[in-house]
Amino acid sequence: MPMRDLSAGPRVLLKRLRELMAEPLDPQERLDRIVRQIASNMVAEVCSVYVLRSDGVLELYATEGLNKEAVHLSQLKMGQGLVGTIAASAQPLNLSDAQAHPAFRYLPETGEEIYHSFLGVPILRAGRTLGVLVVQNKASRNYREDELEALETTAMVIAEMIATGELKKITRPGLELDLTRAITIQADGYNEGIGLGHVVLHEPRIVVTNLLNDDADKELKRLGESLGGLRISIDDMLSRREVSQEGEHREVLETYRMFAHDQGWVRRMEEAIHNGLTAEAAVEKVQSDTKARMMRLTDPYLRERMHDFDDLANRLLRQLTGFKGRVGDENFPMDAIILARAMGAAELLDYPRERLRGLILEDGAVTSHVVIVARAMGIPVVGQAAGVVALAENGDAIIVDGDDGQIHLRPMTDLQKAYEEKVRLRARRQEQFKALRSVEPITKDGKRIDLQMNAGLLVDLPQLAESGASGIGLFRTELQFMIASTMPKLEEQEGFYRNVLKQAAGRPVTFRTLDIGGDKVVSYFRAQEEENPALGWRAIRLSLDRPGLLRTQLRALLRAAAGAELKMMLPMVTEVSEIHAVRELMQKEVQHLSKFGHSLPRKLQFGAMLEVPALMWQLDELMAEVDFVSVGSNDLFQFAMAADRGNARVSDRFDLLGKPFLRILRDIARAGQRNNTPVTLCGEMAGKPLSAMALIGIGFRAVSMAATSIGPVKSMLLGLDADQLATELNAALDDVRSPVPIRELLVQFAQTHNIPL
Ligand code: PEP
Ligand code: MG
Repeated sequence: MPMRDLSAGPRVLLKRLRELMAEPLDPQERLDRIVRQIASNMVAEVCSVYVLRSDGVLELYATEGLNKEAVHLSQLKMGQGLVGTIAASAQPLNLSDAQAHPAFRYLPETGEEIYHSFLGVPILRAGRTLGVLVVQNKASRNYREDELEALETTAMVIAEMIATGELKKITRPGLELDLTRAITIQADGYNEGIGLGHVVLHEPRIVVTNLLNDDADKELKRLGESLGGLRISIDDMLSRREVSQEGEHREVLETYRMFAHDQGWVRRMEEAIHNGLTAEAAVEKVQSDTKARMMRLTDPYLRERMHDFDDLANRLLRQLTGFKGRVGDENFPMDAIILARAMGAAELLDYPRERLRGLILEDGAVTSHVVIVARAMGIPVVGQAAGVVALAENGDAIIVDGDDGQIHLRPMTDLQKAYEEKVRLRARRQEQFKALRSVEPITKDGKRIDLQMNAGLLVDLPQLAESGASGIGLFRTELQFMIASTMPKLEEQEGFYRNVLKQAAGRPVTFRTLDIGGDKVVSYFRAQEEENPALGWRAIRLSLDRPGLLRTQLRALLRAAAGAELKMMLPMVTEVSEIHAVRELMQKEVQHLSKFGHSLPRKLQFGAMLEVPALMWQLDELMAEVDFVSVGSNDLFQFAMAADRGNARVSDRFDLLGKPFLRILRDIARAGQRNNTPVTLCGEMAGKPLSAMALIGIGFRAVSMAATSIGPVKSMLLGLDADQLATELNAALDDVRSPVPIRELLVQFAQTHNIPL
């Protein structure tokens, strides 16, 4: 009962503020009137607004009650005085005797010494502090909880005013507000290249523009209904059989449920509605307050829970606003740089490729699939960029530097210019690599190295001629499935493969059969949640259990390659018997096609990927069974080292060029020589000049990589004496006593022999 009576005041205030926001006033006048309104409504003698500048200083932008001359002159640093303390902690301060507080700092120009009580709240947006709003009274008093709530609600209106850029007009020349501050973040480079463009948030922030309500009861009802819907959907997810009884997935959902039933959360949102906000603005207010507090936590577990909480609030916002998703096509920038906490490969493929200039991930790892897809698209990628999503707004200018792993958000003009120059330089280097296109890939001592490229989409094909690759060593057929909204039919698959072969114009293409499952999600193919998807029902395992799917693909491949050579290989083979099983299916398809008078490929080359360590003990059987072997070093490394390729905490923990993995690879190369079976390698390591050099040293003569890597790798091998390297590298690999890391030896070798890396 009392809450409604007490909230009449704030409701009147918000109504007045709404009118003020709508009036055609200049920003200073509007701000002055706002503080006057707040002061009179809250029966305070003083009301002041401090705005955070990009140099970390809080500047007085408007006041009622303090000396007007102090406006734009009074300044406090972050953490300094009461106002600075509020900004730094993102927490309110409610004091009956402000001057007794240890952080109090006297600003003589304001004349504030006569005011004893003080109530200040941070002005927040998406958890970021934009400024501080303060009321003061002469008499010593404690402000009530509902007054604090009312002031926080009012601060949201001011946050909106700052975020729309209105205050820029009254910012002194040469100074900037914090919201537009230039920020540089050091992260990890996952794919080289420089991208200049504008931010697109992958999980877009829902901007609530309808802040103030006309009818609190109606809004309470809306909130109640949405919360009900949200709880049901979480319970529903939890009760699904595929959500196993324990594990991370369940833990996250349990956390969601806990938040969704949290009475404190619900109460705070209801209070905000009583104070005059719409249901969505109330959700946003409480989300922002909570986020601001949690962003200051250092415990990684609790920070992770913050993400969960944030996700939940976003779900609620989507329910309330009917928000559908992405930035619409009309607003999608021509030079988009996508920012995401984490992302699946299929989601990246949903974006219009010709407009993508870069990808930035807060998580991610070099060999995670989304990064591989981005590499295939030729866009720069930076990962492990902590906190970047919260700092950026859709449409902000941004530079992604995949070479140095840096991100420059809202860059200054000088930096922008420097990067434009860097982009020109890179283009010139690319030109030099292009000049190598027709140079034969032969080492200094006369060894020919077959350089092929990886692909998966039709748009990759022009790069075949441009890069000078001899063919496509890995064609990831699942990408076509991942971008489609329904399962591609036989004719579509056939048409697609035919087109690929046509564009390859006689150069060999190695099609890999469907490698879905794990993190390669195909929306229309519902698999069960798995505890360990990388070790689960994926690739060849799934294909053998769904023979219809595999047979359709085999038929499409056979028909597309009629009269030509068909080269295909199987992903994730664990036992040689799996290859037999596919061969049998293939035989059936061949019989079927010849029975109906279709012409068949002139030649069929049947290969297997070596990605599962169990094959190391079936090497001779494997080589006898297939026409060629292709090492999938991304998966082989993750399984050999028991280190998740998509988890940055462990994916770089062990050295790809360390003894164990190089010995494994050498055993494979030797088995190939012994059995006269061609062996190639198509994982990401083939595209790095240093690791490609190591591969040549241990006996590989064919590698497949992203098209952009062909130039740098070719330039390396032209200066390499392969035999000399082999002698030194093999001796080091056989030496059980030498503590010198192999990577160092390789770098040393390249330096001594002037090999460009
Ligand atoms: C690999 O595992 O090395 C590989 C080439 O396949 P993918 O990266 O598609 O799993
Ligand atoms: Mg693989």
